[in-house]
Amino acid sequence: MKNLTTDDIMRIRRDFPILDRKIYDRQLIYLDNTATTETPRQVVEAVDSMYYTHKANVHRGVHTLSQEATSMMESTRSVVAEFINAPSTEQIIFTRGTTEAINLVAASYGLLLEPGDEIILSAMEHHSDIVPWQLIAEKRGLVIKVIPLTDNDELDMDAYRSLLSPRTKIVAVTHVSNVLGTINPVKEIIDCAHRAGAVTIVDGAQAIAHLNVDVQALDADFYVFSSHKMYGPCGVGVLYGKRQLLEEMPPYQGGGEMIKTVSFEKTVYADLPFKFEAGTPDFVGIAAFNSAISYIKSIGIESIAAHEDELLRYTTPALLDIPGVRIFGNAPHKSAIISFLIGDAHHYDTGMLLDKLGIAVRTGHHCAQPLMHILGITGTVRASFGVYNTIAECDAFIAAVRRVAAMLS
Ligand code: PMP
Repeated sequence: MKNLTTDDIMRIRRDFPILDRKIYDRQLIYLDNTATTETPRQVVEAVDSMYYTHKANVHRGVHTLSQEATSMMESTRSVVAEFINAPSTEQIIFTRGTTEAINLVAASYGLLLEPGDEIILSAMEHHSDIVPWQLIAEKRGLVIKVIPLTDNDELDMDAYRSLLSPRTKIVAVTHVSNVLGTINPVKEIIDCAHRAGAVTIVDGAQAIAHLNVDVQALDADFYVFSSHKMYGPCGVGVLYGKRQLLEEMPPYQGGGEMIKTVSFEKTVYADLPFKFEAGTPDFVGIAAFNSAISYIKSIGIESIAAHEDELLRYTTPALLDIPGVRIFGNAPHKSAIISFLIGDAHHYDTGMLLDKLGIAVRTGHHCAQPLMHILGITGTVRASFGVYNTIAECDAFIAAVRRVAAMLS
């Protein structure tokens, strides 16, 4: 693994023109990477090139443009499969994002479950990994159970083990919490679920651009993520699934692309992965997603993780040094996400004042209202780092929080 130098980061920053923006006459400091990462030139140019040079609908055309567009889309599928070490491209389903991927599994795999079957979620799930399960639970009479947290903001693994039963059919957990930053022991969670005969789905939205993900080493049954959180285009996501499970599952949506033959009497569905890709996909975004993965690979995921970890370790104690600052998410093994509050100040006021200083952070419940409820708060201010953030930006952020704390106290 190569340690990223200041020169490396400066070179990387030049790929992101948005970072040159001024907000209220100040240099933008973008610390909202958990919500979405910014997009490098290479990816935007790939989108441009698709529109200007190759655009034609995929999979159905014999003409050259259609074949080019199809091969560019399918080449991304191979690159994604390799990136997460999936055994085959047929196990990579393109979706609109993490949310749609989870909805797909819940709506489709959920139909194979029986009333009284149990789904285990965790207390730190994003709404995307709660509501789809509630929808199917209501339809099929399923029971939802929740893994609680320890005082360390980690999943309570003993409680998890005691929730598992022969009725557990699905365990759905996030790899990394988008609020606490906690990196969950997903391999252990998956192994326990398998011993109980349950299938697992890992929400990788916050892990995929920050950790090395190997779906075979994890033995994950399903693993899902979004391109826009990994320097890629919006509107593209991935569902990885084990072949046997995907084959057993009924289609999620019906339409073009997902069929072999259609008559009014009977429709025969297409093979994987197309069975789950009804309608024209966002082939422009999917083609450009390839460039985002190349971008990450050219830097190296481990180098990115080490750099972000340095920013986290640098910023955390300095923030805690500011009177009144409380950080939510103190797990020893955590990703570069800092959720905090200043005294009794409303997260929204803090976020607005930081914005006036050119600093983009997210405020609110972060689509994790059950977790907010457990923490006894309505929301937090969340700063999260990406590969292009610098120690100088951390210094400016720390100084800005100090200033805001003085104003609000
Ligand atoms: N899960 C987690 C942990 C997330 O952080 C997010 C995005 N904030 C999602 C799911 C949903 O991702 P998307 O909006 O890209 O579908």
